[in-house]
Amino acid sequence: MSQDKALTTRAEDFSAWYNDVIARAELADYSPVRGCMVIRPNGYAIWEQMQGALDAMFKDTGHQNAYFPLFIPQSFLAREAEHVEGFAPETAVVTHAGGKELEEPLVVRPTSETIIYAMYAKWIQSYRDLPLLINQWANVVRWEMRTRLFLRTTEFLWQEGHTAHATEAEAEVETLMIMGLYRTFMEEWMAMPVITGRKTDSERFAGALRTYSCEALMQDNRALQAGTSHNLGQNFAKVFDVTFQTAEGQLDHVWNTSWGVSTRLVGALIMTHSDDRGLICPPRLAQWQVVIVPIYRSEEEQATVMEAANQLLHDLRAEQIRTHLDARDGLKPGAKYYEWEARGVPLRLEIGPRDVTAGSVMLARRVGAKKEPVSVVGIAKRIRQEMDDMQAALLRTARERREAASVRGISKAEFIARMEGEGGFVYGGYCGDAGCETEIKEQTKATIRVLPDAEFRSAVAPASCLWCGRPSVAEAVWAKAY
Ligand SMILES: [Zn+2]
Repeated sequence: MSQDKALTTRAEDFSAWYNDVIARAELADYSPVRGCMVIRPNGYAIWEQMQGALDAMFKDTGHQNAYFPLFIPQSFLAREAEHVEGFAPETAVVTHAGGKELEEPLVVRPTSETIIYAMYAKWIQSYRDLPLLINQWANVVRWEMRTRLFLRTTEFLWQEGHTAHATEAEAEVETLMIMGLYRTFMEEWMAMPVITGRKTDSERFAGALRTYSCEALMQDNRALQAGTSHNLGQNFAKVFDVTFQTAEGQLDHVWNTSWGVSTRLVGALIMTHSDDRGLICPPRLAQWQVVIVPIYRSEEEQATVMEAANQLLHDLRAEQIRTHLDARDGLKPGAKYYEWEARGVPLRLEIGPRDVTAGSVMLARRVGAKKEPVSVVGIAKRIRQEMDDMQAALLRTARERREAASVRGISKAEFIARMEGEGGFVYGGYCGDAGCETEIKEQTKATIRVLPDAEFRSAVAPASCLWCGRPSVAEAVWAKAY
């Protein structure tokens, strides 16, 4: 889109707004290959910040990174029945290479359980080799028919954790620990509140015993699955013969977990916080936390202002504040403000000749109160405080918005009306019958996002199924989802 055209507003068309925000902030672009996405430097920088935070959390909890091949023998995927059924329709398969037809076709990984557990079978012999805690940062390919930048693309970037344990209980502890880790990341870094819980069987990962998920609510009141963690049981261990000798000398299959988050989180971040002026990025994940814009008219003023601006840049960088000086000449300050706002930079410091004389700068915030002068003395501390405040305010605002769009104890008719109208999270009783779940999905397009963890459940458990009226076996959270 051209730089002078206003963004489509959220109220006009949320989906067009989302595309406009991405285009204006130069986060991503469409690729010549249908369904694929080019992640532009501004978008990739957010992903790199996400990677850095998550990677440190994985390592702090004992995981190591490794890398497994992009190509998987087709027969590997076929070994686990549910897994192949779940992924076969969307795999890309290489049949020819080096000018010849391959003896066995190779699948471009849609996920790496099969090839990783084939290797674990070689590496694990004894209980002393457990737990094995490995993560990989990689790209995967799932042939999608309907794609949207960041949210659903044929190729995407992600991390996939794969662990092996001696007991089911240890695998379950790992699965849930990762859920907690993801939630911490989403709330404390992305400022995006999530509901955690277990998926129903119809929504669970192909081949898993149990799948847990973090679910966020976007500004258009549609849910987004932000991260999943699977207890795979011994399904893959049996198929790939991953066995170990127990401390008692018995031979047993290992218990596996797998878990992942992807570049979809960049889409979630955009749809959680941004406004009609463009991207809003939480300070902890922003490529540039502060942008300095110098203001001058004459060459003499330019020299004075640029000297002060460079000093400020140096001082803030020395304090580990990610700072950029927009020294482009021939572009008016107002045009720069407009551009950096659309790119979601949390704080802007404007500095002109009078500010230099006064030993201050003008501080402008991407969200919240309007601009005010602040002294350059102690400015790093002030900026850190501003960023902490903004980070907390974004989470608070997003949580209030989510709660305002969540309802409990409504009737079937109200549920139908709500899913045709404003959407949001609906908490209600669920009879546990997959047929009921399917009927709801067919008639309203709403799915059970999770059977929520205790802390998210209603004070009084619902007595009957929201849809069929039979006794409820668990509270569920429904929404229309991305
Ligand atoms: Zn029911």
